[in-house]
Amino acid sequence: MFGCVLRRVCWKRSGARRSVCTTQPEVRVRFAPSPTGFLHLGGLRTALYNALFAKQRRGAFILRLEDTDRARLVPGAADAIEDMLEWAGIPPDESSRRGGHYGPYVQSERLQLYSQAASSLLHTCHAYYCFCTNQRLELLKREAQRSGHVPRYDNRCRHLRPEQVQEKLALGVPRVVRFRLDSGAEPFQDLVFGWTRHEVAAVEGDPVLLKADGFPTYHLASVVDDHHMRISHVLRGSEWLISTAKHLQLFRALGWTPPAYAHLPLLLNRDGSKLSKRQGDIFIQRFREQDVLPESLLDLITHAGSGFNNNRIGRRLDELIEEFNISKITTHSALLDLDKVHEFNRVHLQRRIEDPHTRVELMEELRQRVLHTHGSDISDHAVLEPHYIQRVLQLRKQLKDVCVCVCQGHISCLQELLGHSYSYLWVRPLVSLQQLKDVSAEAADIAAAVIQLVGAGGSVSSTERLNRELKLLTSRLNTTHSSLMRVLRLALSAQQKGPSVAEMMLSLGEQEVCVRLQRALEP
Ligand code: GLU
Repeated sequence: MFGCVLRRVCWKRSGARRSVCTTQPEVRVRFAPSPTGFLHLGGLRTALYNALFAKQRRGAFILRLEDTDRARLVPGAADAIEDMLEWAGIPPDESSRRGGHYGPYVQSERLQLYSQAASSLLHTCHAYYCFCTNQRLELLKREAQRSGHVPRYDNRCRHLRPEQVQEKLALGVPRVVRFRLDSGAEPFQDLVFGWTRHEVAAVEGDPVLLKADGFPTYHLASVVDDHHMRISHVLRGSEWLISTAKHLQLFRALGWTPPAYAHLPLLLNRDGSKLSKRQGDIFIQRFREQDVLPESLLDLITHAGSGFNNNRIGRRLDELIEEFNISKITTHSALLDLDKVHEFNRVHLQRRIEDPHTRVELMEELRQRVLHTHGSDISDHAVLEPHYIQRVLQLRKQLKDVCVCVCQGHISCLQELLGHSYSYLWVRPLVSLQQLKDVSAEAADIAAAVIQLVGAGGSVSSTERLNRELKLLTSRLNTTHSSLMRVLRLALSAQQKGPSVAEMMLSLGEQEVCVRLQRALEP
């Protein structure tokens, strides 16, 4: 059974107030990271699947920060996690930043709810005080290890008599609250793993619910919050699958209806190894710094796993929402091929260029970055004009020639257009006639002839035509094709390697080609 909230949908029609009320279960899902570190690919995938599930069902996607492990808190992590969700295009509908009716959305601000739940469990004898010292627990652990058993609490304090408990409480003996686990296990139907059953009491001691410092453990806090925040579906990593039996016992003991559960298989490297946080290269901030587009990252993450009818590349968020199918999530681990991130980015960059809305934003971003990178070196500010920037980005369309597309051919992120190989696009090179003559004795003739050719118009309209004209020029000037190309490359970019000469000429445009060649001819 799902924890459902009945929602009323009412509307007015043609003046007469017609109250049409439908009742439907409201989907509410949550992403519940602990701010003990920054958002990484595994976390982003859990958040994304929650967001897709909620958006598809017009539900709410909630960000809840589980900050009860005070010792491991990382300063700034909580804010950074929400920043990254916003960057990725999946901001929560409810969070401490955004507000909402079911807050606070940070567990350390909800302590009263947890202690109320613990009191109620104590009252109904589903929980008990435990006064065992850390030394005793440590001893139990060591003994278990020595005899080759899995360490577990021996439930000793379960059996304290009420007067013993009262006495210790009166003396102020430090204590925790533990949950009395039921033996036996009720099966539950996970939306991914199917019918699941875990006899938790057979393998674990009674778990702590409330710690000595008054903070709840994850188990109590997550159950209490899932209830009070009216969470209808819990989509979380499969590492939590075995905890679910415990959570269901807690729900039952508290008299609450549990949500439905869907456990997402692990995200692993392509070779099946664990994604390592220590390498640092799986943190979302890192991808952002490397100019990876958020939609490429979302596409890559979903490409690794199941949840879709097919595995095509190039889906944007709206398509992911439309095509997501929770029943297609399999129990196999999802294998992530991070080497493909550039390929995905190239595809999505191209989509941004082709879409008129995103193209305008992209052009402005490129303009700002060109200014930032090359600012004082830019002598001709025409390179900052929209039509020039658009030509650089959209070369393929303009020329109907796939092989010279700046962006689709070689560029997978804007940053590359700001690097050394493409600096010719923004900065006029300083090249002397002597430097050109060192490449070819006929350099001056070549430059003059190309100025004439380009100045006459039309030649710089396609690579085919340009290459044909340049070949004719080669034989007319009695030089070699490679000399001609080397002279042009140097005059136009001051470089000896880089994109093809035809691509350079096409992206610079006729006028700029002439200006550069003329400058090179000046004594
Ligand atoms: N705080 C837990 C985590 O960081 C949340 C687990 C859950 O979603 O219940 O994984």
